[in-house]
Amino acid sequence: MVGADGRDDKTGPGAVAAVRVPRDPLTPVQFLKGVGPARAGDLARLGIGNIGDVLRHLPRRYEDRGRLKSIDGLSGEGIETVRGRVMDVVDRRSRRGLVITRVNLSDGDSILSCIYFNQPHLTRMFRPGQWVVMAGRAERRVDGWEMKSPEFEKEDGEGRPHAAQIIPIYPATGHLSQRFLRTLVGRVIEEHARLMPDVLPSSLRERLGLMEAETAWRAVHFPDSGEELEAARTRLAFDELFILQTGLALMRLGLRQRVDGYRHVTGGRLSTAFLEALPFDLTPAQKRVISEVAADMEAPHPMNRLVQGDVGSGKTVVAAAALVKAVESGFQGALMVPTEILAEQHFINLRRLFQPLGVKVVLLTGSQSRQEREEVLSALEAGTVQVAVGTHALIQEGVRFRALSLVITDEQHRFGVEQRVRLREKGAPGRVGEGLVPDVLVMTATPIPRTMALTLFGDLDLSIIDSLPPGRKPVRTRIVHEEERGRAYAFVRDLVCLGFQAYVVCPLVEESEAVEARAVTEWVERLRAALPEFCIASLHGRMKPAGKESVMESFRRGDTQILVATTVIEVGVDVPNAAVMVIEGAERFGLAQLHQLRGRVGRGRHESYCLLMCERCDGEGRERLEQFARIADGFEVAEADLALRGPGDLFGTRQHGLPDLKVADPVRDLALMEVARREASALLSEDLLLRRPENAVLRRMVEEKFRGRLGSVLTG
Ligand code: ADP
Ligand code: MG
Repeated sequence: MVGADGRDDKTGPGAVAAVRVPRDPLTPVQFLKGVGPARAGDLARLGIGNIGDVLRHLPRRYEDRGRLKSIDGLSGEGIETVRGRVMDVVDRRSRRGLVITRVNLSDGDSILSCIYFNQPHLTRMFRPGQWVVMAGRAERRVDGWEMKSPEFEKEDGEGRPHAAQIIPIYPATGHLSQRFLRTLVGRVIEEHARLMPDVLPSSLRERLGLMEAETAWRAVHFPDSGEELEAARTRLAFDELFILQTGLALMRLGLRQRVDGYRHVTGGRLSTAFLEALPFDLTPAQKRVISEVAADMEAPHPMNRLVQGDVGSGKTVVAAAALVKAVESGFQGALMVPTEILAEQHFINLRRLFQPLGVKVVLLTGSQSRQEREEVLSALEAGTVQVAVGTHALIQEGVRFRALSLVITDEQHRFGVEQRVRLREKGAPGRVGEGLVPDVLVMTATPIPRTMALTLFGDLDLSIIDSLPPGRKPVRTRIVHEEERGRAYAFVRDLVCLGFQAYVVCPLVEESEAVEARAVTEWVERLRAALPEFCIASLHGRMKPAGKESVMESFRRGDTQILVATTVIEVGVDVPNAAVMVIEGAERFGLAQLHQLRGRVGRGRHESYCLLMCERCDGEGRERLEQFARIADGFEVAEADLALRGPGDLFGTRQHGLPDLKVADPVRDLALMEVARREASALLSEDLLLRRPENAVLRRMVEEKFRGRLGSVLTG
């Protein structure tokens, strides 16, 4: 029957058929049997809104019921699982007002006491006689075994809740039992798993030997074995990484298809003169990277490249070569850095390199006088100056270039994918001359683990400077205890007497720049007392820019012999004559940061040293520093740091404008990520806009996950 509005009349006899559960994974969970409004609300709190979400709600962990232990069989090591019958439940209030609930469990032979704090509602949840499974860390007491706040699961008198031995344990809220979630998931798998969209073209899936999607969904929830679970997890992780890498590759390759980039000249006179005038021979790695950058710049599409190289590998000269190329092509270039000290240093270096070539460089920072700023801005707009070096001041309103064809960011490793897209879309810094998209070069010394290079920088083409200039020796790194401070100072004295310079880095202070400034002053006094014969200066974030500049200048000239500083010197600072760095309170720094600091020495041909002063140096902290002292390579340090800290704070992927990873672990699944990157590039080289029918699902998923970030790549 068709109603007046032309739609099927649902009140007719056909209505019964119409309320059958729809089979689309986007169907709201309320349509599932056993889910009423209350449970739908609880599920929503877990992020489960539709049927597909149920499948994507993956177990937090699994319990191997094949490994259930008897209470006597507990070892007290790791998480152990036991099954037993509730004997009694007792509540007690401690003197401090804490409610302590004790659930005593018997497995027929022995008793396990389970303790919960401030969860009085638990008293009602356990009934004597009931079978429960407890999982937690067991501790042996004089009167038997005890577990504090173990996870529990009640069995409804039917023995085991699931026929399988490996049981999924889901993230849950108080009102939803594990049993309910399992039943729900089981039902959805029966009816819907095969309807889940499959992102992998079957030829690709078969070639990589990955499990079928439907099997994977079943096995990730109810695995028959550990191996099957691993295979299922791999398949689902690959899907996520493949979508991620396809999106990133689209950003990369899509840009390459655009022809509105600057076309720079090949083999210009200025470049030749620049390279001939260099005081050293380029390393093979530098030569390779310079030519990779040059090829990008000569092509008609916009460059989008990351140059990665360890501290001291010589990235500045790569940047300089690129700037010269922009200039000889008749355009302008900008170099943006995170600190004023670094901006100043690059400015000095570039001016020295460029002056003989007749290339004009200006410095633009937030702390210049109005008049200075006006002059700089009008010179950039008129095009009488070709290169600008600066801090974020470069991308502010009012900065205009006549024809900016190259934007380089140095040490801006915290720049995420999203900021980069914005930077380019704005044509920033300043306005894009002639409506063309500038070339972008990102340089990072912060050793970034391979896994980050593949994700946060995955939209960039990658060049790696993988060797250091000749004659570099690894910095000798030692842990020094408080009692040995006198010997450490004597060592610094010897080196300074030989004509070298020293850095002393103050302990990390979290409170404020004011507290930090005071701490620096104290350290300076301490050092002046210990080493009165030397010229000691200090540097911290609170100083006025002019003050910072004159301190750095004096240190560069060698007039200052010892520089006491905060982490303001962490990035980029290059004074090759410095031979020793003392890091106070070394245990407070992260490994990557220590490496970055240590990179300030060891920049010449002489032997250099890093002394890690340790206040409380025991256990884990000491192990970490010992590990650091052994590793010289930045990439290895980065991997170690990542392993220690976990990917958490490095990988706010969403915060960086990338889709969330639920199954895949960017660290553990590195190998899989590399396969995904390779396959995504290969697939796009055959079907750049994902127009083929077998790529339709992938295209839809990528569009959904990268909403807005692909610009017009797919529609263009
Ligand atoms: P980073 O990669 O940390 O930015 P820099 O570009 O500051 O490194 O270079 C570190 C030091 O090495 C500088 O003093 C620079 O002049 C010097 N340098 C760079 N390349 C070479 C080379 N090929 N041979 C010798 N010294 C070099
Ligand atoms: Mg540098």
